[in-house]
Amino acid sequence: MALIVQKYGGSSLESAERIRAVAERIVATKKAGNDVVVVCSAMGDTTDELLDLAAQVNPVPPAREMDMLLTAGERISNSLVAMAIESLGAEAYSFTGSQAGVLTTERHGNARIVDVTPGRIQEALDDGKICLVAGFQGVNKDTRDVTTLGRGGSDTTAVALAAALKADVCEIYSDVDGVYTADPRIVPDAQKLDKLSFEEMLELAASGSKILVLRSVEYARAFNVPMRVRSSYSNDTGTLIAGSMEDIPVEEAVLSGVATDKSEAKITIMGVKDTPGEAAKVFRALADAEINIDMVLQNISSLDDNTTDITFTCPRSDGARALEILKKMEIEGEWKNVRYDDQIGKVSLVGAGMKSHPGVTAEFSEALRDEDINIEMFTTSEIRITAVVREHDLDNATRALHDKFQLGGGEAAVVYAGTGR
Ligand code: ASP
Ligand code: MG
Repeated sequence: MALIVQKYGGSSLESAERIRAVAERIVATKKAGNDVVVVCSAMGDTTDELLDLAAQVNPVPPAREMDMLLTAGERISNSLVAMAIESLGAEAYSFTGSQAGVLTTERHGNARIVDVTPGRIQEALDDGKICLVAGFQGVNKDTRDVTTLGRGGSDTTAVALAAALKADVCEIYSDVDGVYTADPRIVPDAQKLDKLSFEEMLELAASGSKILVLRSVEYARAFNVPMRVRSSYSNDTGTLIAGSMEDIPVEEAVLSGVATDKSEAKITIMGVKDTPGEAAKVFRALADAEINIDMVLQNISSLDDNTTDITFTCPRSDGARALEILKKMEIEGEWKNVRYDDQIGKVSLVGAGMKSHPGVTAEFSEALRDEDINIEMFTTSEIRITAVVREHDLDNATRALHDKFQLGGGEAAVVYAGTGR
């Protein structure tokens, strides 16, 4: 008997009708002879609606109360799915993250899972029940308060439970058939990928692919949990994410896809003294404010006054705070000028095949040149090339790269619903 963990995203649960369809799939999985643990996200756009509601009663809602509010979304969907399962003649029990033993750090709104002690889940499974666990939430042992794991955190809940229960596979259901060579909403001939290594999926998720939350892939890789990304609207077997890229034979290593990201901003600090310790000051100040830095670029210094420019990207949502910190340091005379730009887009080409594909950086730049798209920042890793371009050039850049590296196929991708989550 296999143990399968299934996670359903909000777009798979947006109505009573969808909840019944999901329940049917769950019961069929159980009837096929498997133990089943299900993690549901909140229905449709519930989380966004709750965030809006909170903002209307308090522009700066207390973080603890925010987590009390948001965790309710997942309790609603999980209990409704449990009820739908019961109506189909199977037994189901729903649990909050806390009841399921999801233990986290105390940080409200962005807690990390530190341990999973799924005793109650195991007992219910042993009793023949289908278990439902509210995603995206846990509890901190010291504060005894509920926490949330950050947007999209149900993926991480599912993988963490799969790891703790030693499940055979963690299936992630959304509204597309799997992981594609590009966002099918931007590139109509994007192709579904059958298999990806953990490293490739990590790079795609880190480069803006929204199909899986980055942390869930990190967790899956660390605990070696195979993930399967599938659609709750079809019977396609989806995309398997498993194994290390080191084990892919050279002749099978390919370029897997193009990821895009419109969520970042670019900050340039000008006139930074080109002496040891200056970059450290910048990045320490930002780190202390828990601002995540992505790309960093430093120029050679100017001969006239031995100063340099440092450019980096960070989430737009942290842009205002980053700017405030750096402006303050500017007034204190640390440097001359800080510039902020959030009209940027990031496009990345990812694939284990890059290691054996000479000239890929040249072809990448030529593809953008042919579309008259300017590259503002450029970085490469072993299996990824990323460029920052103007935001309004991003879709074009994506299509150009997808074409250039012949990632497309004959069939048009099917998008079944909402937002790709
Ligand atoms: N409902 C939460 C969100 O929208 C968690 C999730 O969907 O995974 O971010
Ligand atoms: Mg959601």
